[in-house]
Amino acid sequence: MPATTMDQLVALCKRRGFIFQNADIYGGLQGVYDYGPLGVELKNNIKAAWWRAMIYERDDVEGLDAAILTNRKVLHYSGHEDTFSDPMTDCRKCKGRFRADHIKDGKCPNCGSTDLTEPRPFNLMFKTTVGPVDNADNIAYLRPETAQAIFTQFKNVVDSTSRKLPFGIAQIGKSFRNEITPRNFIFRVREFEQAELEYFVDPGDDEKWHEYWKEERIRWWEEQGLPREHMNIYTTPKDDLAHYAKACYDIEYQFPHGMEELEGIANRTDYDLGNHTKAQEEFGLTSKVHANPESTQKLAILNDEKKKWEVPFVIEPSMGVDRAVLAVLTEAYTEEDLGEGNSRIVLKLKKHLAPIKVAIIPLKKNNEQIMNKCHEIKQNLMKLGIGRIALENTGNIGKAYRRHDEVGTPLCLTVDFETIEQQPESVTLRDRDTMQQIRVNTADLPNYLREYFMK
Ligand code: ATP
Repeated sequence: MPATTMDQLVALCKRRGFIFQNADIYGGLQGVYDYGPLGVELKNNIKAAWWRAMIYERDDVEGLDAAILTNRKVLHYSGHEDTFSDPMTDCRKCKGRFRADHIKDGKCPNCGSTDLTEPRPFNLMFKTTVGPVDNADNIAYLRPETAQAIFTQFKNVVDSTSRKLPFGIAQIGKSFRNEITPRNFIFRVREFEQAELEYFVDPGDDEKWHEYWKEERIRWWEEQGLPREHMNIYTTPKDDLAHYAKACYDIEYQFPHGMEELEGIANRTDYDLGNHTKAQEEFGLTSKVHANPESTQKLAILNDEKKKWEVPFVIEPSMGVDRAVLAVLTEAYTEEDLGEGNSRIVLKLKKHLAPIKVAIIPLKKNNEQIMNKCHEIKQNLMKLGIGRIALENTGNIGKAYRRHDEVGTPLCLTVDFETIEQQPESVTLRDRDTMQQIRVNTADLPNYLREYFMK
């Protein structure tokens, strides 16, 4: 189990510019965080890895980027207005407010009192009004999951891409939940990002695809650096399933605060499309749906073999991007004893996730000749398209190495007097994990780096 503590991660994230408390100068906004210069790179790299695996490497998934503001009817017919709630309880002694299902031994987590109110449902959706008039007709929501727009755009995507089953629609974007008790850094927050795939299948094939996606997603997490033994697959008991699900696996990860959900993989059956479709009675839906007199579209697809229109089932792998950032950081954070009282912190991130790929470090600060060479090398390496290449001008190599170890930069490239004075021109490359240094001719750098970052 990773020995990393949450305090270590929070401190590193602030010190090196990964994650900051939102509105820090005003004391923060609870459950809301901002990603700093390196955090945004790491998060973008995680999202790019997900997008690549879901869309570019496959031939059966299309992308979507839908709006956050959501028409009230969508979340009415999806069931979220009625059922998207957590049980909330109040402590009569200290006035603390908690999720009832997180209370242990009937005691207030704050003061230990057992004088708690009966749990009552608290709807997690953020409500707002659209337009200048603040009345009930103008209510809209910030989406609590990205999935609903995939269902409401189902017909437009099918019509514009001529897809047949099985196929998927993938989306990455912000979601909002008014969590009763946000906690554990970016693990449970009120504004977060999700990466969700809705994979539409023939009814009857759903269980097979549910198993398939569970395995695919475990494999993907391993590729991001999480070993299988730090994950757990939790099968949600029938009584705890979300209102739309027939079955659900949670991929859990050993976070610093415990083994907790990283991604949910749900079998949502024909529940969502069934609730949003016009003419529900035509499709022999298996889910219990609410009558929908307002939808204007049939959300069905033609099954060529069966020669009939059907509402497909859907399998949904849904990952929290912020939880992915936290898991990847937890796994990568390492404190190494270098002997003789020396130690270093090193983020052993997978190369494709590292915020900075190569740091170019001049041996001497403000030396024009060396700096010109650094700029020239940077311009050349940028053409490789391997990601961010940073140029340092601190003049302190030891300090630069320490900083780049801490932020997970795989390679530091040093330009010294030998580089500009001797032929063939060469630079020093230092590997983050082994700390070994090698001399590489500048002319060979593009090939060397291409191969290094491909591995
Ligand atoms: P939990 O049981 O932890 O509240 P959930 O089962 O309600 O999560 P889902 O509705 O399945 O979560 O959402 C899919 C994914 O979105 C989760 O696996 C998680 O990674 C992420 N997620 C959900 N709620 C939050 C949150 N408040 N903060 C950060 N990520 C979240």
